[in-house]
Order: sequence, then C-alpha cells, then structure tokens
Amino acid sequence: MAAEIHPKPLTRRPVLLNKIEGSQDVVNTAVIIPKEDGVISVSEDRTIRIWLKRDSGQYWPSVYHSMPSPCSCMSFNQETRRLSVGMDNGFISEFVLAEDYNKMTPSRTFQAHQGRVTVVLFVLEMEWVLSTGQDKNFNWHCSESGQRLGGYRTTAWVSCLQYLCQTECVSRKHVTALCWDPVQRVLFSGSSDHSIIMWDIGGRKGTAIELQGHNEKVQGLCYAHHTRQLISCSSDGGIVIWNMDVKRQETPEWLDSDSCQKCEQPFFWNFKQMWDSKKIGLRQHHCRKCGKAMCGKCSSKRSTIPLMGFEFEVRVCDSCHESITDEDRAPTATFHDSKHSIVHIHYEVTRSWLLTSGADKIIKLWDMTPVVS
Ligand SMILES: [Zn+2]
Ligand SMILES: [Zn+2]
Repeated sequence: MAAEIHPKPLTRRPVLLNKIEGSQDVVNTAVIIPKEDGVISVSEDRTIRIWLKRDSGQYWPSVYHSMPSPCSCMSFNQETRRLSVGMDNGFISEFVLAEDYNKMTPSRTFQAHQGRVTVVLFVLEMEWVLSTGQDKNFNWHCSESGQRLGGYRTTAWVSCLQYLCQTECVSRKHVTALCWDPVQRVLFSGSSDHSIIMWDIGGRKGTAIELQGHNEKVQGLCYAHHTRQLISCSSDGGIVIWNMDVKRQETPEWLDSDSCQKCEQPFFWNFKQMWDSKKIGLRQHHCRKCGKAMCGKCSSKRSTIPLMGFEFEVRVCDSCHESITDEDRAPTATFHDSKHSIVHIHYEVTRSWLLTSGADKIIKLWDMTPVVS
C-alpha cells in the first residue's frame, strides 16, 4: 500500500514584525501610533520615548525625554495628540506631541496620588483624566485646569469600576488588566489567579463568565471589535485569541455535601457517617460542569469545556464526561507564544498590529492578521 502523505496544516500565528530595544528598564506601557510607523513608550528607566521607523527598517527615538520619577503608566489620545504619563511619585504629567512626532511640549503636571500611579486614562469627551494609584484612590481631574473634580458621578465608567471592585473584592482576586467593549457593554477583567472574567454590565443580569486559558498571571487585554475577538496575554508570554462570537455559559456554583453525590461515600469530615458505615472518609472534589461534590473515584476523568471557558482540561464527573461530545470540545481560542514575559499589550485595530512589552525590556510588534480575522 502506498504511503499516504498528509501535508501538515499551516499553523496560523502572529508574525513578528519588529523588535524595539534600548530601554534601560522595563517599559511599563507602550502604544502604537495609529497611521504612523511609530511607538510611544514610558519606562521604569524614567524615560518617555517616541520611536519612529527609519529607512533601515529599525525604530529609533525621535523624542527621548527624562522624567523625575519612573514612568508607571500612560494614556495617549490620538485626536488631540495628548499624552498623559503617570509616575511612581504620584504625579501625572501631560504633553502635546507635534504632528510629525518629532517634538513633545509639556503642558501640565499635577499630583494625582500619594503613591505610584497605576492606571491613567484620558477621556476626551469629558476632558477628564481618570487615574488609580497605589494609595487605592480613584481620582478624576479636569484636563483643562488640572483641578481635581473628586466626588462620585454616575457614569458608566465609574459604575463599571465600582461594580467590578465590589464583586472582585468578594472573590479576593487581584485585577491586573481591564478592557471594555462599548458595543456589547461588556467589561473584561484579567487577574493574578490566571483567569479572565467577562462581566455583562450592559445586560444588567449580573452574569460573569470565566475564561481559563492562561497558566500565569493575566497581564493585558484588548478587544478587537471588528472581529469580536478578545486578545489576552500572560506573564509566561502566552497570547490567547478568544472567539467571542460563541455563546458561553456561566460555570455552576460548587455544591456542598457531606458525602459523594454519586456513590454516597462520606467525605473525611463526616465522622458520624464514617463511624456508622465503618468507612474511611474521602476527599471532596467538584465536577466543573455540574458543580456536584464528588469523590475522586467518581470524578476521575478530565475534559476541556470550551463553552464554559475551560480551554484546559478540568475535572468532570463520569456522567458529565459522557455528555460532552467531540463537538463540544472544539477549542474556541487559539494559543500563541510571544517568547517574552509580557507586562503590557496594545492592539492597533487599523493594521491589526499587536505590541507586547516584556520584562526583558524589549517591545515586540506583531502582525495579527493571520489570527485576528
Ligand atoms: Zn463517589
Ligand atoms: Zn458533573
């Protein structure tokens, strides 16, 4: 019999376009300038740099600006070319960039926090500079006057953050990344426990869907509206592209029981039943699909459940294992390796470019068209 040749299917993956090197320390935030071959970066090495692509194909700084304190975060508004930079000393400095990105003019510096500024966001419509800091404050300042506006306002943004804070505090997770889909009115949060949660804020049903596809702390989230894909990355260098066009279900709550809900053997804390039946108690596990409390023997199988957000194999009970079809197991995400420990990402939608900034002090630019489509 003639040997059959199976051509290996071409794996679609992000294509590395450029590496930007030269920072003395970690680049905490960097963004791709839309419609320009340029990148703006702020770094722990106290510099703000604007990198433009030269004829050689390499990116070189056209602006190199030293700050008094490490630059922890930034926000860039392309329409007004306004750059807001948050620093370790609690100050926010604002600049206006020249049209050709060869010059940067300082416009204002104000103290926003008592400690490191962790997130800064300029909202043009409101002329607001929103920021969070290590002092645990959430502040907003008027970008025109630099005055702190303070007080509570019922904007979607603020209530989103509040909603998230309340629910996340309950589950004691540490939020490491946020991204908002204004069309579906869905907020995505990434956390240090490796999970992503999709909060249905617009629907107000309070549903929260978990996405499990990372092995390390989630460091960045971007939503590609045009293709309805979520891009997430983690500190182990993993980039995951999630198809958000599929309907996912919430994971069930874990049920409490003193004995296995299948074979009825007691769990180890159930001394009475152990004594009565003269049996040694077993460890309690939970089926991720039905949430029932099970002994190890009755939940020995593993399966992915992509429509519940489990892209990795998880514990399921025997009857749930039988009910999961091959079709159910079809992945709803693709997995890629950036080959550096990611601290920040930025997605530029018009060219479908992704920027990853790593703990290795390197910025990488990727063409995402093979996977975001
Ligand atoms: Zn059992
Ligand atoms: Zn089950």
